[in-house]
Amino acid sequence: MTDSFGQALDFLEESGLRRIRRILEGSQGAHVLVDGRRFASYCSNDYLGLAHHPAMIEAACEGARRYGVGAGASHLLCGHSKAHEEAERKLAEFVGLPASVLFSTGYMANIGAVTMLVGRNDAIFCDRLNHASLNDAAVLSRAKLYRYPHLDMEALESFLAKVGDKRKLVATDAVFSMDGDIAPVPQLLELCEKYDAWLLLDDAHGFGVLGEGRGILSHSGVSSPRIIYVGTLGKAAGVFGAFVAGEPGMVEMLVQRARSYIYTTAQPPLLAEAILASLDLIKTESWRRAHLHELVGYFKSKLGNSLMPSDTPIQPFPVGENGACLNLSSRLEEKGMLVPAIRPPTVPVNRSRLRISLSASHAFEDLDQLIAALKNEIAC
Ligand SMILES: *Cc1c(COP(=O)(O)O)cnc(C)c1O
Repeated sequence: MTDSFGQALDFLEESGLRRIRRILEGSQGAHVLVDGRRFASYCSNDYLGLAHHPAMIEAACEGARRYGVGAGASHLLCGHSKAHEEAERKLAEFVGLPASVLFSTGYMANIGAVTMLVGRNDAIFCDRLNHASLNDAAVLSRAKLYRYPHLDMEALESFLAKVGDKRKLVATDAVFSMDGDIAPVPQLLELCEKYDAWLLLDDAHGFGVLGEGRGILSHSGVSSPRIIYVGTLGKAAGVFGAFVAGEPGMVEMLVQRARSYIYTTAQPPLLAEAILASLDLIKTESWRRAHLHELVGYFKSKLGNSLMPSDTPIQPFPVGENGACLNLSSRLEEKGMLVPAIRPPTVPVNRSRLRISLSASHAFEDLDQLIAALKNEIAC
């Protein structure tokens, strides 16, 4: 028994699947400090460069002075603060929905929302490339799980048509986390209307970035009481946490029934203060989004077809085989650039890729070194 972990770890090592954790010695940004060495960073989801913004740091400090550090209890006991309440109201308003509730993480928001919405006798429909948290949520819900091929609306419709009058939930990443492409939300909504299903949109990578920062709903110009919107706050918003927004009754049922909401300590109120500051910056510093979109355009114009098709700050460079992908990532690291190799089980076997994340904190000149190195690879 005691040897089995060692053997499992050796196996991961030999198959190029063992992960390591880099130890950062400072904040996120275009450059990060690791082991005393400065690296250009293409691995964070801090798309707007807000994670170390002075106004956010100040809001968090002010929040700590007012509320202390820990929330001390779950929301339903006495951990729910004025800052949480205000953040919920402003987040809902910002994404254009009537109500929202804060969760501690996006992982917990998906688990809580999916398991509140569907159970043993129901059906859930998931895009094959959905984030792991939605897959885990689907399994935990015990609903019958139908996984349709990536973005394949015909396959989704044929599943929806055959399940009859069960409660149905279609759940999808809005922006796919490892591919960077965007779900066809108007078509999804049309199918949900036709077959009387809910539509859960996980906008972890769209909130703050798409649709003037308001996310996928504004970007795709849709609205419907069937929509359950999940936004996360640890990525473009630069803080930590998540929220689920939609109809007031649905949101109140989450408060009453979502287990990952009820049985956990509330997010520290100082983070809710930082979230409020972040929301202000997302609205007022629109130059961050404009610059980010220019960076995406510049990067794509230089590398064109060598990239996977994506118009978002997630720009995957396909490699295929594990070992080759890891090698490339290591060579870039030797040159002072951190670009993560994404491998199974995060992506399918032989679909390993570099996942390049662009951020408003990058300058055009920062990208040139990476572009040159990747062009060199393509030429080989
Ligand atoms: C990151 C991510 C999550 C999880 O959010 P956390 O707040 O980091 O737990 C959920 N869904 C998607 C698509 C993500 O990329």
